[in-house]
Amino acid sequence: MADDCNETLRELYGFLDGELTPENRQHLQQHIDDCSPCLAAYDFELELRMVIRRRCVEQVPESLRRKIAEALGEPAPGS
Ligand SMILES: [Zn+2]
Repeated sequence: MADDCNETLRELYGFLDGELTPENRQHLQQHIDDCSPCLAAYDFELELRMVIRRRCVEQVPESLRRKIAEALGEPAPGS
């Protein structure tokens, strides 16, 4: 895997969280446009986030909510 891909995948989370600078966002976007493995990774993360977000606004059991929070590396709600 090229260095650019490693960098892209590392910055993917920041990109999705809106934490990158405009220059970094543009750089990442350009790479994704030209690189199908990174585009696939991007699509997967994006879809995963949409599913999680949708589940979070619906009524979900506390145990599932906790599991999602753990998967995202966030502190469990209510702790
Ligand atoms: Zn790539």
